[in-house]
Amino acid sequence: MGTVEQQIQQLIETREDFVVLLNASGVIIHSSQGWVDYCDQHRLPEKQWKVHENYIDGLTVDQRFNVMQSVQEILSGSVAERSELLPIRFADSADHFSIKYQPFLIGPGEHGVILYKHPILQFPVDSSNEVVLKSMTDAFYMLDEQMNFCYLNSKASSFFGIAKDELIGSNIWEVFPHLAGTTFHENCIHLMQKRTSLQFEEYYSALNTWFTVKVTATKSGGLGVYFQETAKHHGIRLDHQECANTDYLTGWPNRRKFEVQLEQILEKKTAFSLLYINLDNFKHINTLYNHKIGDQIFKKIAANLEKLLSPQETAGRLDGDELILLHLHKKTAGIRDFSRSVRKIFEQAIPLDNTQAITVNASIGVSSYPEHSSSAEELIIFAENAMREAKKQPHSSYSYFHSGMKMDLVRRLVIEKSLSENLTASGFHFALQPQINCVSGELAGVEVLSRWDHPKLGPISPFEFINIAEETGTISHLTHHLLNEVFSFIHNNIIRYGHFPKTAINVTPSLLTSPRFFEDLFFLMNKYNIPPELIEIEITECIELTFSEMTLQNLLACKAKGISIALDDFGTGFSTLAYLMEFPIDKIKLDKSFISKIGHDPKSEAVLKSLIKFINSIDCRMVAEGVELASEAVFLEESGCLVHQGYLYDKPLPPENFIRKYLLNYNDTTAKNRLNPFKQTTLTWFA
Ligand code: C2E
Ligand code: CA
Ligand code: CA
Repeated sequence: MGTVEQQIQQLIETREDFVVLLNASGVIIHSSQGWVDYCDQHRLPEKQWKVHENYIDGLTVDQRFNVMQSVQEILSGSVAERSELLPIRFADSADHFSIKYQPFLIGPGEHGVILYKHPILQFPVDSSNEVVLKSMTDAFYMLDEQMNFCYLNSKASSFFGIAKDELIGSNIWEVFPHLAGTTFHENCIHLMQKRTSLQFEEYYSALNTWFTVKVTATKSGGLGVYFQETAKHHGIRLDHQECANTDYLTGWPNRRKFEVQLEQILEKKTAFSLLYINLDNFKHINTLYNHKIGDQIFKKIAANLEKLLSPQETAGRLDGDELILLHLHKKTAGIRDFSRSVRKIFEQAIPLDNTQAITVNASIGVSSYPEHSSSAEELIIFAENAMREAKKQPHSSYSYFHSGMKMDLVRRLVIEKSLSENLTASGFHFALQPQINCVSGELAGVEVLSRWDHPKLGPISPFEFINIAEETGTISHLTHHLLNEVFSFIHNNIIRYGHFPKTAINVTPSLLTSPRFFEDLFFLMNKYNIPPELIEIEITECIELTFSEMTLQNLLACKAKGISIALDDFGTGFSTLAYLMEFPIDKIKLDKSFISKIGHDPKSEAVLKSLIKFINSIDCRMVAEGVELASEAVFLEESGCLVHQGYLYDKPLPPENFIRKYLLNYNDTTAKNRLNPFKQTTLTWFA
């Protein structure tokens, strides 16, 4: 063992990557010789490599934010590792590096960050080397700016099983819709904008195969994609048929194979139960740690569950975080003991290599044969439905299917189906709720709220249908439809009255991470000529907001266009004021649960008062939601929160009524006073 410096030196110089070690302030403690040589060769500034210089100061402004964020996340311990793609620019070109950030203990109590920089190959692509490409062993294709196929070699064509002529000119996401939302999809969108290259490995579930994929921006404005099967992965060698039916991680049957096995067991007519298990926080574990740890946890859970099964019983992996167990039992005995053992597995923390043990919560739903159904498909759906019921409870919980759920299920299926159809025809529309400045009586803004009078089910609460749309992925269809209607409405009213108030639209967490949604939003704003300063998006506190780089990029893109961002339901989620510092948030919406404590709970009143003071002090706008009583409005005004939304002023109104009340008499001050019932009340009080 040598000194700490010698140990660092040894560690760094044995790596193939270039390495830079920073202290908590971003000052360079050590640079590997390879990195120093590289910087010297490319005449990069000393700030990028020299010991005692501040590394952050040597970066370009656009890179500084990303790097600082990565360093801070590592130092705070909120992530164990971070990777990003960054170009290093020279006079007339750039090299691209994949940079990995990890924590590093510099000395006793002194934490730093180590950066591993791995160069990424650039693939120059133009027509002159097409011949070379054709003869390459990798499958290769090219996409134009609209992501339409414009070239593919015969290897790619035979891999897809689609003739070259058929693919050329068609859009990749339309031909392969199941690629939406994959890392590959996200990377393509990213590279299309950033015009760089990236190499990564991706698991393609439809073929149960890993691929090494290289995507690079082409000179003609599109992308070139190379891909090759990665045979070495996981050491699993299964024949083609077996591959297609087995989950690579657990080795369990996938949905298709499980259904076949279930049919076979049904033929034996012995009683059994299905336990449908959803790992509640698994997605968050993947986001918080990384996929390797996620995979490790999944494998351990599967192995523990497998120990509970007899050789005659079976299990399957239905989806990303959903498992199913089939437990045979006597008709009368039921499955109480078995389900207790399953729940025990989720009560214990799972030990992991190199990091602390993690507890995974599970929601478990159970259906039984022959009590509930003798159809394999129905038994799975019923167990899933019971699982959804269990999910409503906090922490790990368990729910047994009962006939009442059948009604819920039918209702849900009707809603699911209608959500993917023509929404106007099925009674979908919107209402507008004003936000009023309680001092001037002026209209400060308006929130769009979806409404649905379903032809068969009658009025459905937005809480119910938004939730289903979010879970089933139809939320983008619904929001696209809503934006079209609302923007066309705003457009017509601007033409007629010359103005329209700032309009807030609710955006769910899954849309926040979708570049497609934001492209759609910008496209529709353009189409209807909507001034960006009239639009506000309302987002809620959620894990995506905290940890997703993609969300941050999307929100920054909104800001850059002039669209403002409001943080909805403040006071119900994590409620961390850190959001206000880290995210581009213009406005806070104080939740109704805060407001309704006014007059009842002095402690909550004190918290609310200081919160309002703080929000005002950082120049963030604010709205109080769910203001129902004049006494609440008085308290809010005195505390410094002047804009209110709530039944005291108006319920969400049909658009025509909103126009009549708020747009027709906009410049009439007496009308403004009329708008504010609270002002009239207070005036009478103080008179
Ligand atoms: P939210 O975004 O917090 O919307 C405010 C909710 O409070 C609305 O409920 C509104 O009608 C209600 N509200 C307003 N003032 C008062 C009041 O003084 N007292 C009481 N008790 N309630 C008041 P609504 O319209 O039922 O919507 C419920 C939730 O559904 C919304 O909560 C929002 O999260 C979601 N939602 C509605 N429309 C959409 C939409 O188009 N897209 C998305 N993503 N979510 C939507
Ligand atoms: Ca809202
Ligand atoms: Ca709200």
